[in-house]
Amino acid sequence: MGTPQLTNCPKCGKLFLRIRNICDVCYKKQEDDFLKAAAYLREHTGITLQELSDATDVSVTQIRQFIWAGRILVDNFPNLSYPCESCRNMIQKGRKCSSCTDTLNRLANQVGIKEENEKRDPSQERDGITGGYISHYLKEKSEK
Ligand SMILES: [Zn+2]
Ligand SMILES: [Zn+2]
Repeated sequence: MGTPQLTNCPKCGKLFLRIRNICDVCYKKQEDDFLKAAAYLREHTGITLQELSDATDVSVTQIRQFIWAGRILVDNFPNLSYPCESCRNMIQKGRKCSSCTDTLNRLANQVGIKEENEKRDPSQERDGITGGYISHYLKEKSEK
């Protein structure tokens, strides 16, 4: 790692010496927020994300970041879901629901995926299997 550089804090915009992603003030606040949210969650495991935010004054965005960072284990809190960034379906993991992630991956690798799909085309697959079977069968026959 090089020498820490002066950079703007992505949270508050203040110039700080980049030791971590955010400045000390924001880091301190983030840790306080985490302790507050975690403590409240322990007492209210059935709470929703919005309720947790209202009760602790920690922003929904911040709580979501804790979830993304794996600091809040959503498995223990069944109602702690938040909307997918694309379709707004409620999810508990990642930033997007699995179908949006799929769509995005498909768009990102459109060419590669298209080839995959063609390979996986069910009629072709059936032909392939049948063809293989028949040639195998014929081969066996002719050998006898
Ligand atoms: Zn800051
Ligand atoms: Zn979605």
